[in-house]
Amino acid sequence: MKNKKKILGIILSLTILLIISVSIYNIKENKKIELIQLSNHTTTQMMGYIIKTKNDKMIIIDGGILGDTQNLMNYIEKHNNKVDYWFLTHNHNDHVTAFTEIAKNSNVMIDNIYVSLNEKEWYEEHERGRAEFSNYLIDLLNEEKIKPKVKTPALNEKIQIDGMEVEILGIRNPEITQNPGNEQSMVIKFNTGKTSILILGDTGEKSSEKLLKNQKEKLKSDIVQMSHHGQSGATKELYKEISPKICLWPSPDWLWNNDSGAGENSGPWKTLETRKWMEELGVTKNYIEKDGDITIKIK
Ligand SMILES: [Zn+2]
Repeated sequence: MKNKKKILGIILSLTILLIISVSIYNIKENKKIELIQLSNHTTTQMMGYIIKTKNDKMIIIDGGILGDTQNLMNYIEKHNNKVDYWFLTHNHNDHVTAFTEIAKNSNVMIDNIYVSLNEKEWYEEHERGRAEFSNYLIDLLNEEKIKPKVKTPALNEKIQIDGMEVEILGIRNPEITQNPGNEQSMVIKFNTGKTSILILGDTGEKSSEKLLKNQKEKLKSDIVQMSHHGQSGATKELYKEISPKICLWPSPDWLWNNDSGAGENSGPWKTLETRKWMEELGVTKNYIEKDGDITIKIK
């Protein structure tokens, strides 16, 4: 009888201990950093990422087109309508229209907006077809309620966000006037101390060369966002230097498969070639925009 009670007592204590350990483990789990790749909500290519830090700061990179806005808003609403940091890689609408919608037409609080844009005249001269949207974006960033939040980072500037170091490896490149908008992409490296994530935006050939020349020793990263939606963006040499384990592809299905409507590899895009490069470089994991929103827990 006594022994039975003793055994029951031990079992009860062990159960309580187990419950406590699981709870502590779960709390720790919740404190992990999350990287979310947003998916396209229309057939148009887009790019949007969210990083949630250990203590729940919300960082957004780009966000997508008008049709992607509601999906992004769902995440922001869950974060009490507050965005701590918003990085805009460049002026193109497949990246920043959701931002313009939210900044203009919602009561979302955005604390910091990081951009690296040229003057309106530059876009009018070098990217005339898109100048109207660039002007709209620049005017919005100059609005009274938004302007105080806007920061133009210097090259190699480091921003500390909740234990994470964010380094600006590339800013606008006004001297590059071919493929003009894309080549102005801000290049941002997020480093948690254990994991590094490199965001390339729509970096092209010339800015790839510039990065290799000026930032070579800083390029190596665990995770890379594939430039220009996975095709005709950064060079193979740049990816070789980055040498990632994980690739983030902001590519809808037609672009991932180079499918212009007549099946795989029927289109003019270079995605299959880029996919082959990354395979050769030994990438172990690909996350693709076409597969829906993906949350990656990182250390
Ligand atoms: Zn783009």
